[in-house]
Amino acid sequence: MMHIKVSVVRVILAGKICYAGNRRLKIYGMLDCACGKRMKMENRVFFACEREAVELGYRPCARCMKEKYASWSRKF
Ligand SMILES: [Zn+2]
Repeated sequence: MMHIKVSVVRVILAGKICYAGNRRLKIYGMLDCACGKRMKMENRVFFACEREAVELGYRPCARCMKEKYASWSRKF
């Protein structure tokens, strides 16, 4: 567990990760979003870019990405 955390922090510091998501809910958002911090570590996924998350079928977080979420929900 600790090992995973350390390696994730390293790529974040390197600027390679900008977004975090929830594997189960299929939602992505900012790394420092409160809803992301509350989720279980085992459900957390990380994305280097937004496109990566979208391509995997994730939707924007309604709280930290309000504008993106609004344009996403307009598609339906
Ligand atoms: Zn969020």
